[in-house]
Amino acid sequence: MSAELHLLPKSNTDFLPSVLNAIGQVLPSDKVLPLHQPVFVGNEWNYLKECLDTGWVSTAGPFVERFENMLCEYTGSKYAVAVVNGTAALHIALQLTGVKPDDEVLVPDLTFVATANAIAYTGAIPHLTDISRKTLGVDPKTLQVYLDEIGKTTNDGFINRITGRRIAAIIAMHTFGHPLEIEELAAVASEYGLTLIEDAAESIGSFYRGKHTGLWGKLSTLSFNGNKTITTGGGGAILTQDESLARHAKHLTTTAKQLHQWSFYHDQVGYNYRLPNLNAALGLAQLEKLEYFVEQKRILAKRYADAFEGLDGVTFVQEPPHARSNYWLNALILDSTHSQYLEPLLQATNDKGIQTRPAWNLMHTLPMFTSSPKMPTPVAEQMVSSLICLPSSATL
Ligand SMILES: *Cc1c(COP(=O)(O)O)cnc(C)c1O
Repeated sequence: MSAELHLLPKSNTDFLPSVLNAIGQVLPSDKVLPLHQPVFVGNEWNYLKECLDTGWVSTAGPFVERFENMLCEYTGSKYAVAVVNGTAALHIALQLTGVKPDDEVLVPDLTFVATANAIAYTGAIPHLTDISRKTLGVDPKTLQVYLDEIGKTTNDGFINRITGRRIAAIIAMHTFGHPLEIEELAAVASEYGLTLIEDAAESIGSFYRGKHTGLWGKLSTLSFNGNKTITTGGGGAILTQDESLARHAKHLTTTAKQLHQWSFYHDQVGYNYRLPNLNAALGLAQLEKLEYFVEQKRILAKRYADAFEGLDGVTFVQEPPHARSNYWLNALILDSTHSQYLEPLLQATNDKGIQTRPAWNLMHTLPMFTSSPKMPTPVAEQMVSSLICLPSSATL
């Protein structure tokens, strides 16, 4: 039977088999397929062995600096500070932007929980925003309309007229690696006096208007968790273009210890957030292969896009205009007329060993954030009931 026949559902009852068939055209059928798997095809063994042979495995050693330098080289960032994970990077970024307890920080309702958690660590309050259907990240235009509606600019900053609290900052998150309209958002943030932080945990290798994501934020963060595009086992980084912020980030993440040959003098409450040399060694080897991974992932995305093209009831998520996406996670969106198929599709694929996942639960539905201020989030709600992530490893 030709593929075309499968691609034209005669009725709604043919929908599920058609989608499964399209997925089957892209993925190998003989094994369990994780959502995202790390790939080690470079210098990983060599660099890790070098750590063991030299004894430099922990919080000092040459790979941390080499990893940081290569992050700068690849992204075009002036500074990069490697840390233990992406969540810690967000925590420090928020602290360094001067976010204080009882401030509000704008953050998408649709994100991984770490983004909102980091705001809570600082004592500030997540203020939840909707996303754009086009980019799956915050929409600068609707955000601006909303800010005009609820806020006012004062000598103390931009104040939420409903809660009376200062809205200090905004965290923009590039969902599944797709760059949001970050240049336009940066303009809105600056107009309202909000500090911009980019959570680029998912978007290493993704560019907007030719510039790497994470370069618009005053501070931005990356994650190198095992499921991300490149991994250090666990790890993250802070990017900034400001030398004193970079120095401060390094200081805060290394227990705020002043350099001295023997004295333990710490000049503030610091954190033990620095990335061990072992993890940085793994990260350097991974970073050397990043362009190869992104190329592979873009080929996979193209194959998914072709397989789903012409299939009624679903849209494959493609990179937005002006963006070059790393396609960290491939996703399908069911039309609102087909959202009843979300559960059956998740069930059928997972039963076959194809690890698919729905979107995250929205932040405002989690017990610790139910009373957070929020704008209406219809697009985010719609994604929860219609979006499904597909296996996306670079080796597929
Ligand atoms: C992975 C991720 C993080 C956190 O990264 P960790 O390294 O796991 O702490 C933060 N935000 C988003 C959007 C992520 O996907």
